Amino acid sequence: MQFKKIIGHQNVKKRLINSVNEGRISHAQLFLGPEGCGNLPLAIAYAQYISCLEKSEMDSCGECQSCIKYEKLIHPDLHFVFPVASSAEVKDKPTSTKYIAQWREAILDEPYLSLAHWQNRIETGNKQLLISKNESEDILKILSLKTYESEYKVMIIWYPERFNIASGNKLLKIIEEPPNKTLFILVAQDSEQVLTTILSRTQLVKVGRIQEEVLQAELVKKYSLEASVAHKIAHQSDGNFITAQKLIEHSATEEEFHDLFKDWMRSAFKGNVAGLIIWSENMANISFGREKQKQFLKYSLHIFRESLMKNYGDAEMERVASNEVKFLSNFSPYIHGANCIEIIELFNDASYHIERNANPKILFLDVSLKLTKLLRVEAPVGT
Ligand SMILES: [Zn+2]
Repeated sequence: MQFKKIIGHQNVKKRLINSVNEGRISHAQLFLGPEGCGNLPLAIAYAQYISCLEKSEMDSCGECQSCIKYEKLIHPDLHFVFPVASSAEVKDKPTSTKYIAQWREAILDEPYLSLAHWQNRIETGNKQLLISKNESEDILKILSLKTYESEYKVMIIWYPERFNIASGNKLLKIIEEPPNKTLFILVAQDSEQVLTTILSRTQLVKVGRIQEEVLQAELVKKYSLEASVAHKIAHQSDGNFITAQKLIEHSATEEEFHDLFKDWMRSAFKGNVAGLIIWSENMANISFGREKQKQFLKYSLHIFRESLMKNYGDAEMERVASNEVKFLSNFSPYIHGANCIEIIELFNDASYHIERNANPKILFLDVSLKLTKLLRVEAPVGT
């Protein structure tokens, strides 16, 4: 991974690069910053830079023998330690080494990795991920090996917050008397959770959040968002790239739901049975899966609720996306006291049946026909 792949943090990059070129590489460093700031990919880029055979003043070359191995995270002098737990695949004494294949895959897929994503990836259920004492034995073994190809052996430790005291103390001893030409990079998110003894023995590299403007520019570039949308998301995600990605994914889904809902209601209003059949077949065929079908029903309920709110005086509409506002002003008069309870029940029931493996085609058609009737119920006088 090259420095240029990491969002923002220009000053930190510059300082790291200078320290290498001036021969001031501190042997134990703590890259501190909140989740989603990119301190893990930054640590990898730094290690790659140190090991690169053709480095410039700006970045590693990305093409030399060392970089090629680094880009695949398979350089023999690059080692990782990260929290793990047992799983169906690794039943006994879980360690980083046993999960290294999944780890490489996870980072290569998405270098801005969160602990929750990692936990999902290795399917450890609800077990707490830890760096256990089995791990410190592995660390000692690795460090006793000679370096293969680089001047430095690098060990990147992700989430030192997850050391238990015994394994943390073992690591401390190693950090205090490190083997020659060994570099430890600890990548932490919360300094208060790192053992104070570890903190006091490492040099702090403050990474911090990604600046809002920098994140905004990245979102425009990477996802072709409009500047105003990117600005809003960058602001909401508070310098956290992982959150920004989630928000983008979420808004994409909402848009898709909104379009589906609009088409659906159009046919329902017209009592267009053929259209409703096609719509229901489409709902069953698009690669939605039950979870997303349920989410769509939930989205529909949200629109019905907002319609009621609009009818009964809550003009603020804060929970409504901008593309929904116009739609709601036309749609909301049809949702009122004389049909809302039945509509809500209809959708709750549908959700219940989706969960219990009802045939989605039949279910959505059934809901469509009932809804067509309900939408024709006249509003009570005076609303
Ligand atoms: Zn290189």
